[in-house]
Amino acid sequence: MKKDNTVLPTLIFATGNAGKAKEVGELLTGIMAVRSLKDIGFTEDIPEDHPTLEANAIQKARYIYDRYGEDCFAEDTGMEVRSLDGAPGVYSARYAGPQRNDQDNMDLVLKRLMDKEDRSAQFRTVVALILNGEVHTFTGIVKGKIGKEKTGEKGFGYDPIFIPDDYSISFAEMEAKEKNTISHRGRAIKKLIVFLKQHMTEREK
Ligand code: IMP
Repeated sequence: MKKDNTVLPTLIFATGNAGKAKEVGELLTGIMAVRSLKDIGFTEDIPEDHPTLEANAIQKARYIYDRYGEDCFAEDTGMEVRSLDGAPGVYSARYAGPQRNDQDNMDLVLKRLMDKEDRSAQFRTVVALILNGEVHTFTGIVKGKIGKEKTGEKGFGYDPIFIPDDYSISFAEMEAKEKNTISHRGRAIKKLIVFLKQHMTEREK
């Protein structure tokens, strides 16, 4: 596997979220050279005002592609709780209000689940890639449940209250590598990697 990022094909990752940039950067090391929005000097908020994760992911990737004309990808993620009819879902970032505060969001989920027996939930990520002007999407899901309280300091967002199936610890208690192996984002990015490798092999023929 190539280790020198300077000779790898380059993709822009259209995210302003440092937690996501770190996770995805680790997953793509040695495969693609990923440039973040910070790397390209882009500091605006990218609009994401559609009612689905897929449409938002495509909107974010297009926003950057239209401005830079370079291959890029974006992702949108939501946490879907069964007893809350799939909420917070696409509105996960602003569930408790426009302040987009992780603690407030988690507190509201915990409060709304207080009298519910079914605490099952899942994270869903949709990655949208724009390669040579064409859009491709990849989905990753991890199933689990919402814990009774926040536990752990690692990760970001809703990680302290999400316990993946077959585990007794939250995402926020896991090492990044372990979370990446089973997470929604990890799974979607693995599909992206398979696609990119196939594309690169075909180009070399
Ligand atoms: P967005 O995809 O940036 O709109 O994120 C939606 C919301 O989900 C935000 O509140 C994020 O913090 C949260 N989120 C996204 N990915 C994860 C994750 O891997 N773990 C926990 N929370 C996440």
